[in-house]
Amino acid sequence: MSEKVVILGGGLGGLFTGALLAREGYTVTVIEKNRTLGGGLQMFSRHGTLFETGMHMLGGLRPGDSIRKICDYLGITSQLDIMPTDHDCMDSITYLSDGKTYRIPEGKDNFVDYFSKQFPHQAINIKAYVDKLYALTEEVDFFYLRHETGSIFNHSEEFIWPANKLIAHYIDDERLQDVLAYMNPMYGGVENRTPAFVHALINVLYINGTDRFAGGSQQLATALVGVITNHGGEVLTDEKVTQIEVDDNKLVKKVTTNKNREFSGDIYVAAFHPCALLDIIDPHAFNKAYKDRIMNAPNSYSTFSVFISFKPETFPYINHTCYFQDDYGSVWSHGDYDAATWPRGFMYMTSPEHNQGKWATKMIVNSIMKFDQVEQWSNTTTGHRGDSYEQWKEKHIAMVLRRLEQLHPGIGACIDHITASSPLTIRDYFNVKDGAIYGFSKDCNNLALTQLSIFTKVKNFYLTGQCINLHGICGVPLTAVNTVEAIERSHDIIDRINNHYQMLTNS
Ligand SMILES: Cc1cc2nc3c(=O)[nH]c(=O)nc-3n(C[C@H](O)[C@H](O)[C@H](O)COP(=O)(O)OP(=O)(O)OC[C@H]3O[C@@H](n4cnc5c(N)ncnc54)[C@H](O)[C@@H]3O)c2cc1C
Repeated sequence: MSEKVVILGGGLGGLFTGALLAREGYTVTVIEKNRTLGGGLQMFSRHGTLFETGMHMLGGLRPGDSIRKICDYLGITSQLDIMPTDHDCMDSITYLSDGKTYRIPEGKDNFVDYFSKQFPHQAINIKAYVDKLYALTEEVDFFYLRHETGSIFNHSEEFIWPANKLIAHYIDDERLQDVLAYMNPMYGGVENRTPAFVHALINVLYINGTDRFAGGSQQLATALVGVITNHGGEVLTDEKVTQIEVDDNKLVKKVTTNKNREFSGDIYVAAFHPCALLDIIDPHAFNKAYKDRIMNAPNSYSTFSVFISFKPETFPYINHTCYFQDDYGSVWSHGDYDAATWPRGFMYMTSPEHNQGKWATKMIVNSIMKFDQVEQWSNTTTGHRGDSYEQWKEKHIAMVLRRLEQLHPGIGACIDHITASSPLTIRDYFNVKDGAIYGFSKDCNNLALTQLSIFTKVKNFYLTGQCINLHGICGVPLTAVNTVEAIERSHDIIDRINNHYQMLTNS
């Protein structure tokens, strides 16, 4: 008889963990609260246009990359319609203050060459800085799907410097310091707090090759569900876990859902924000210190997202992510809201369709926003937030549009429909405290505070997802691998994934 695993939450982490465990021979049940699966992979429709909620930019999916190896191992790579961004411009950053647009190419050497041409007096420093980024990632075995060889105490000093200090250590031109931090919105960076290794991992991930889902992110959720069900598992939607019962031997006995259904298994994995977990697990399951730590850990900031559908054949498709910044020097403080100047920076993209042609069908704009901007409506639920909230949203859509007009004059005339989501939407959609888009915010001054273990004091209960290790398309699937290792008390799965890749390349 195979062991039964109940996974709570059918987002990126729950589905990757479920698919890997199903392939390992476990009988998997995933329970997801939303009607549509996927968490950050979930898409929604407005006026006939499908939009992604979370996962827009992909890294680690090129042949030989870690996430690609996991997808190969699960047999889902051929089901994914993945489209590379432009090789000679994977990202662009426009500064309105001087009208300058940097068009950043993919690949380590190209990245160094490009910035060396833009800032010739910094050429030697740029090379040293980028070499250091790559060296820092080499300290993270899990990034390269290697067996863990060390602990946090084995790392170099720079590993846990603040990211801004690392950049300033190598680069003395202040404008370039700002430009080189442009991926900040991809990891929720905070000055003097976000560790250099987070900055390095995200930068190297995307410099090595950035992709998008043509047709949207839901396809990854669908492919992962296929692995689970093909191996005899089940994936339930529209079923919220409301109680986790733990007995006196510190074992989960069962979980109950909002439909009053009970599920039990040998092993349980929680794949959503740990703060939400504390609301539903038996109070005696964890001690006070652990609960306090979870409740007091800082969360990453949230976002105000604008979703635009275009009139046919009016706005050209852009095959890279665009970043905008008002001026140099504020890349680390875009989250500081100022009604007169918001938004001082954001990222936007024209997400591709299958067989994407020259015209864009849609655009998504993500502007950093902290939860306190919507605090006054925090007791409301989706669709019932009242007129004042709707007016607030309209005002902020207009503020984003004003910036877009500066960047793309005439864009307003191309728009068919426009809608927006706020930190409240993200909080309620994903059940995540403060609508934090990347879960806990790592703090280099107190790494232990935001570093939760996959293991818990409840012996058959494990954690996975973005609050453990790292967020996003790279961190979450790799943590799923670590979760399987923890459950199996063995590192063999890493060997199996790597051997499978070797076999594919030899055949
Ligand atoms: C606006 C935005 C843009 C982003 N852009 C990118 C990007 O371009 N690239 C990238 O790599 N990452 C991006 N991310 C981050 C990425 O989406 C997340 O890191 C990832 O989805 C986290 O995976 P997870 O499994 O931990 O959480 P989630 O994907 O949020 O999954 C958690 C799931 O648990 C469910 N759940 C919660 N409570 C319960 C309960 N009680 N019972 C049952 N189910 C429950 C939720 O509904 C959800 O489906 C973005 C995120 C956001 C919000």
